Formats: sequence, C-alpha cells, structure tokens
Amino acid sequence: MIALTNFVRRIEGSRTLKLNAAAQEYAQKHSDFIALTVGEPDFTPPECVLTAVRKGMLDGVCRYTAVSGRPSLLHEIRNYFRDMRGITLTDDTAVIATNGSIQGIFNTLMATLLPEDEVLLPQPYWPTYETMVRLLGGTVVGIALEYINDYKVTPESLARHITPRTKWLLLNNPHNPTGAVYTYDEQQALGDVLRRHPHVNIICDEIYALLVHDGLPCPSFAHVNADLADRVVVVDGVSKCGALSGWRLGFAAGPRHLIEALGKIQSQQTSNPSVISQVAAEALLRNGFDFLKPFCAELKVRAAFVRTLFAEHGIVTSNPQGAYYILADIRPFLQKATGEIDDESFVHTLIAQEHLCVTPGSYFAAPGYVRICLTNTVDVLAEAVKRLLHCLTRLVA
Ligand code: PMP
Repeated sequence: MIALTNFVRRIEGSRTLKLNAAAQEYAQKHSDFIALTVGEPDFTPPECVLTAVRKGMLDGVCRYTAVSGRPSLLHEIRNYFRDMRGITLTDDTAVIATNGSIQGIFNTLMATLLPEDEVLLPQPYWPTYETMVRLLGGTVVGIALEYINDYKVTPESLARHITPRTKWLLLNNPHNPTGAVYTYDEQQALGDVLRRHPHVNIICDEIYALLVHDGLPCPSFAHVNADLADRVVVVDGVSKCGALSGWRLGFAAGPRHLIEALGKIQSQQTSNPSVISQVAAEALLRNGFDFLKPFCAELKVRAAFVRTLFAEHGIVTSNPQGAYYILADIRPFLQKATGEIDDESFVHTLIAQEHLCVTPGSYFAAPGYVRICLTNTVDVLAEAVKRLLHCLTRLVA
C-alpha cells in the first residue's frame, strides 16, 4: 500500500459534503426528501453572467490567463472592493482572483503560518478553517460565541484569547453557521483590541457580505479599520452573491507582498482560476448587485419564520441577520433522550425516518446544535421544521 504522509493524515475530508452525498442517495429513492445541508443560494445567476459566458465560449476564450486573474477582472474586483465594500486600495495593497475563496484563505495561511502559531477561530466556525490550520501545523484557538452576545466575538473575549503566539484572527462576517452580522461599532471595538496587539493579523472572510437581510448594513472590517490595512486580508468571491458556487471563483485583497506570495503559490499549485469563470465573475461584478434585493428581503422572511416556529416549541436559535443559515440549539432534547448530545446520530435518524437532512452542529464545533440552510421556500422550510420537531418529540417521548 502506498504510505500516506502525516500531513494528509492530520485531516479528514469535508463531513458536510460527505453527509450531503449520503442525503443525495436518499433523495433519489424518496421524492419527499428535503436537504438543507449544503450552503448554496436558491436563485439563478443574473442573465448578464450567462450571456457573457456564452459569448466567451463562442469567441474561443479558452487559454491560460495571468495566474492572479485577467487584468480586466482584477479591475472589476478593485472596483467592487472600493464601491461595494468601501475598501481603500493603495499602492501597498493588491488583489488576486483565486479558485474559490477557499484557496485565498488556505494560501494566506500557507504563506504565513509557522508551526505552533495560533489562529483564533470564533466558535462555532466553518470546519474548513480548522482543517486548514491543522494541515499547516498551526494551532486552533476557539473563542466561544455565546447566545447572549448574538454569537459575536466581544472585545473582552478576543483580548482574553490573544497570546504572543497568535498569528491570525479569522473573522467570518456574516457568519456561517449562525447568520450573525457585526455592526460598524462592533467591528471598530474589535479593531481597538487588535490595535493594542500589533502582532495579530486578521483574515476577514466576507463571502456572505452582500447577503444581509433586507438592506441591513454590513461594512467590511477593512473599511471600518482602514488603519489596520497592513495586516488585514479580505476574502470574498462570487459563489454566494452570484449563485456561482460551482464555478470556483473567489478573490482577495491585502498587503501587496502577501498577495504576491499568494500568486506565487497559486502559480505552482492550480495556476489561474478557470478563464470562463473569470468571464462570469467579471460580468457579475460589472453588472452590480441590485438583483439581490428581493432575495435578501426573502431571506429575512424565511429566517424570522423558522425562528418563530422553533421558539414556539421552546427551541433557542441564533438570530440570523445575514448569510442563509440558522443554528438551532437542540441540546435539551438530546440530553433528555440519551443523556448525551450526539447531534450526528440525531441527523442520521432524521435522514432515515423523516427524509430530512440538516448539518450536525458538531461539524462546526457546536455539538448539540443543528444548522439549517434557509435556501428553500417558506413552505419547504415549514415542512422541514415540522419533521425536525417531530423527530425530536419522538426522541424524548
Ligand atoms: N467561507 C465560508 C464561511 C463558507 O461558508 C464557504 C462555503 N461554504 C466558503 C468560505 C468557501 O466559498 P468558495 O466557494 O468561494 O470557496
């Protein structure tokens, strides 16, 4: 047998995607199956994107591009950061197009993380962050997010977790899996803590930035704390705001020397992001995002609806303001039924008995919770919550 390295043995593949694959199999056998597992928006990309891609293909756009992206795309990315996110880009800053925002985050860590370096992850967190840090030999330090603080990091809890070994804070805003959105003042207060700790750098994963409920502001951390520009990397992309998750196009902005290092890694790793995806992203960014307004208004309705249903049954949830997730605390039910909080077995029961799949909270380092994607109609969400409650009630009966 070919021996695998410790490097790869340190990690496991995405559990959410594995679960979703299992759910897909069920869905093929059961027409009533509902999967609220993987975070993909349920709108179609705007027509201008599809037109640009069709034209690109007919024009024979199929060659390598510059590793960091075509100049015309980089131009649109800069405009996006400036106009949509209020980020000032100077001669000391640069942008890069990546194969999904995941590559921007991973390569930022790869370019900077030394063994033993600590990365602060507000917890619960998107599991890939943890895997990346572990893969690169760093140490994850979770900062527990609490219901009473709307699942947001407070300046005090941030300050308490900083040590001389802290290299990065990874701030995801809006937040997967709770839907929390930081205000201007909250981000400024976090910036104040970081001003006192000049060795701590910040990766801002703002991939859900445009998916805030009904016109709520979601300023970029880099806008609010512009004076910290030499230690901030902002990661974003078109997967969520353009419903182009399968086309793998992300982008990042940050200190020029670091973004150049990302380009160097990318040149030996994947080379340029798919050219036709670059065409799509360019069209999307040029078009602007007015088309998202109805979706954002709808997200607010869905979140409020699901939250109320859960509340009526005494289940505490996060109070989403953005992204398209809600996190429900089902620990009291699990504990009462089994004395444990095994959310993963609960989800497997849910799949088998109720034909419903949601994501176990333990995948996000939040055991005893489940994450529900709000990427379906209110009617489907109502049915899903009904089944989930049915399963919980049966469990404790
Ligand atoms: N960050 C977060 C918080 C996410 O939830 C996801 C996708 N689920 C990503 C990054 C990755 O996005 P992309 O498709 O741009 O790689």
